[in-house]
Amino acid sequence: MPRAQQLSTPRPVAERPLRMVDFPEPEPGADEIVVEVAACGVCRTDLQLVEGDLAARRLPVVPGHQVVGRVRRIGQNVRSWKAGDRVGIGWIGGTCGLCEHCTAGNDNLCDEAEFTGWDRDGGFSQLMTARADSAYAIPPGFSDMDAAPLLCGGVIGYRSLEISGIEPGRRLGLYGFGASAILTMQVAIHRGCTVYVATRSREEQSRALDMGATWAGPYSALPPDPLDAAITFAPAGFVVVEALKAVKPGGTVAINAIHLDTIPEFPYALLWRERGIRSVANFTRRDAREFLQLAGEIPVRTVVDPYPLADANIALDRLKRGETGGAAVLTVGEADSP
Ligand SMILES: [Zn+2]
Ligand SMILES: [Zn+2]
Repeated sequence: MPRAQQLSTPRPVAERPLRMVDFPEPEPGADEIVVEVAACGVCRTDLQLVEGDLAARRLPVVPGHQVVGRVRRIGQNVRSWKAGDRVGIGWIGGTCGLCEHCTAGNDNLCDEAEFTGWDRDGGFSQLMTARADSAYAIPPGFSDMDAAPLLCGGVIGYRSLEISGIEPGRRLGLYGFGASAILTMQVAIHRGCTVYVATRSREEQSRALDMGATWAGPYSALPPDPLDAAITFAPAGFVVVEALKAVKPGGTVAINAIHLDTIPEFPYALLWRERGIRSVANFTRRDAREFLQLAGEIPVRTVVDPYPLADANIALDRLKRGETGGAAVLTVGEADSP
């Protein structure tokens, strides 16, 4: 029987909330595929779900929404995939396809959307089902493990670039420098942008400079040049105000964060002259397809920190402590077979 790391009761990760369970081999629905998981990224959203900061939509549930694997079986209506194809599965697990948002191509805004590892069982598992229309081809240049972090931080970073309105060759600020920002910076530099990185950690500041940033400093420091746009990754509201101070008139601050504490009060003069603040909500399936193709062309480099499926609790604990050496990824292979 296949095995999965299942959450029944959200609690602090130090108490090992995920438990390995056996489950019967799943049957694909008519529009679904069954995926043999090879690798699944571990994201802050998984940590929030496991600890209860993000309310579970159903329990028990298997987390994980940066899945790379191979199609094992297909449902009777599926024409887009065949057994053996390599696919990636992200946070959007399915949308209604009929509402005003879906029909306008904004499927990320669908009120009926289902999410992988939240509404549907996700990729901390040897086998999972997914909707065929919510799976993506993975460019051949990536290993299974290296591709996994592209499917959340990478795609959302790509959408943040679009929402920020940054054009090729312009000056972009990145506020926070974790896994998503690192992927986003590579796309921005590929487009000829000059990148300015603000982050608290001195270590991350020097890593940003090593990776091609023109300037790096703390959140409170104003970059030496006015920015055309900025993206905030840090889950702290004051960072949005710091970014706004650095953006020139007409520029946008895009907020790449699902959860943010309060944005502090700030003088209207900071927003005046057509500066804007926009949130970034997940990504559309088109974003995912475009980004994955571009990531293969650039090619985007990911740094992963692998853990066996059995160590999912440990990976989450290290993510919480900021001790992962790159993007944490669960490897789901032979070693995990019963
Ligand atoms: Zn994620
Ligand atoms: Zn919809």
